[in-house]
Amino acid sequence: MGIADAIRPLFGGGGRRRVRTVVLDGEPVTNALSAPLLSPDDARAAYAAIRGGGTQGLSMGSPPALGGEIVDDVAEGLSLGAGGNDAAIAVAPTAEAPERFAAEELQRYVEQVTASRLPIVEGYCSRPGFILGWGSLREEEAAVAEGELAGRGEDGYLMHSFGSRIALVGNSPRATLYAVYHFLEKYLGCGWCVPGEDVVPRRPTIRLGAMADAVGPPDFTLRQLILYPYGPQWMHVNTLRHVDWLAKNRLNWAHAAPNGPGVWEASRSRELLVPEVRRRGLHLQVGGHTFSLWLPPDRYAESHPEFYALLDDDSRRADGTHETSLCVSNPQVIETVAANINAWLEANPEVDAVDLWHNDSYTYCHCPNCLSPGAVDEASARLAYTATYVRFVNEVARRVGARHPRVLVNLLAYAMTTACPPAGERCDDNVLVGLCLFPRPPQRTLKPIETSDLPTDAWLRPQIPAWRRVCRRYYIYEYYTWAAEYHKWTAVSMIAEDLRYFLRIGVDGVSSDQWGPYWYPLNMYAFARLAWQVDLEPDALLQDFCDRYYGPAAQPMTAYWRALEEGLRESWHTDRPPDWRDEARLGLIREALESTGDDGDARRRVLATAELHDLPFG
Ligand SMILES: [Zn+2]
Repeated sequence: MGIADAIRPLFGGGGRRRVRTVVLDGEPVTNALSAPLLSPDDARAAYAAIRGGGTQGLSMGSPPALGGEIVDDVAEGLSLGAGGNDAAIAVAPTAEAPERFAAEELQRYVEQVTASRLPIVEGYCSRPGFILGWGSLREEEAAVAEGELAGRGEDGYLMHSFGSRIALVGNSPRATLYAVYHFLEKYLGCGWCVPGEDVVPRRPTIRLGAMADAVGPPDFTLRQLILYPYGPQWMHVNTLRHVDWLAKNRLNWAHAAPNGPGVWEASRSRELLVPEVRRRGLHLQVGGHTFSLWLPPDRYAESHPEFYALLDDDSRRADGTHETSLCVSNPQVIETVAANINAWLEANPEVDAVDLWHNDSYTYCHCPNCLSPGAVDEASARLAYTATYVRFVNEVARRVGARHPRVLVNLLAYAMTTACPPAGERCDDNVLVGLCLFPRPPQRTLKPIETSDLPTDAWLRPQIPAWRRVCRRYYIYEYYTWAAEYHKWTAVSMIAEDLRYFLRIGVDGVSSDQWGPYWYPLNMYAFARLAWQVDLEPDALLQDFCDRYYGPAAQPMTAYWRALEEGLRESWHTDRPPDWRDEARLGLIREALESTGDDGDARRRVLATAELHDLPFG
């Protein structure tokens, strides 16, 4: 029995008939908890006492073929589509933009599934249907939701039936949107596998029984996708689709990386990107490699050549390329960078974090103030410089914080600043530290970083806890979607092992670089889910992805990806590269193609996978 069956008499029903008898642990209990209505505290206590289900994390939900649960007594549930309830979607008049957007998304996808369009109504609505956000809940329902959502963090949410009313409610407007997407995924069989390619099953009627899913808090508070490459030519091709995908997959930070002056503006970002981020209630980070953005050489190089890095041949380079760097110990550089960031934030008040990363090279300032006298070789020079870089970011962050106390400044430990200085100063609380595990896989590894015996991994490994100790806000920057020439296989098991390790040593967040225009659906799907809940099993993630993405070919394609994952895992404790099971995979693709029947989408997806892996089909 679901929670909603048990709880319904608490509130005198809400479906078409009042229920006076419930069954608890096999025993019928008549009127024990029914009218008169209990006080919120009593309701919460009673509810806790009879609570028997619910989920802490992300249950995978029904495969698309099932698409909702059939219940015997429709009057006790909600029925959508042909012959269903006269249902509506209720939002409060005071609902914030993401809650209104959540209502529109629910309306849109329910219509795609059932061909019935539910009206969106403002305020309390007694009709069967959906309640989005807190403002449309009854007092008693709100008490239940409050109890269930306590301690689940700002991203926690609830999918909970009260008779034929289903509450989709979050601890933040964004989390209410998460509730809608998870509901569509779990109960209607939708799939958010690939950006811009939603899987939406068609069913004339959906009957929904009791549900009581309380989800959260996620394991990582920052779950981020870097929107890169960034520019006008990518906005509609990739960027906006990725924002849509990341919200559907319950990531919470969109990170635009224009990587240079003028690109944010040329991309019409405030017109095109910002509204899409805001309506989903996501956090927004902007920048990338920004030394030339905050101190443009064409504005300062002539009048202030000393602003730019002194190279080891005593020259200074300020041409705006990635070889341009700054003298980060120069007080005027600190003041000017901070002033330019503040001015930019005033023009872009929607931004939650700005990047203060080096340009994308190993160039750094070798002046005596940026290096300490102890810098006797390249390794010690880099450590000395990194300590100066930390002080620089702190000084800038103090000046930004004075004007924009809500905004974080991102320090990136990357390239020559990867190693954490042993005696460096602590990062201020409004500094967000990212440690980039560079080089990217598989230049570095396809082995979990915690146990890898490869020299680059072994060198990177101690940096992870070292940076943890010197900052309050900390995320790991990885490359889980790789460019085709580097990587095209699956690494779900490695991602799972890595994220579990990061969580264990206290990392707050995880971020994946997009790095190129390619997209690796399975790795990214797994990354998003593992970022929420690291203990999900890779095999279950593969199955879930394949059920949704390949439809009738799910079974052979699950076997296909599992074979790859086995080959990957076998290689972890050997010197050999993974055995990608070439012979077995050929047969599985053949079987998958035969399974697709007249499903053109499934056939196209199987063929795309075969093509990615250079198999002779199509
Ligand atoms: Zn310097």
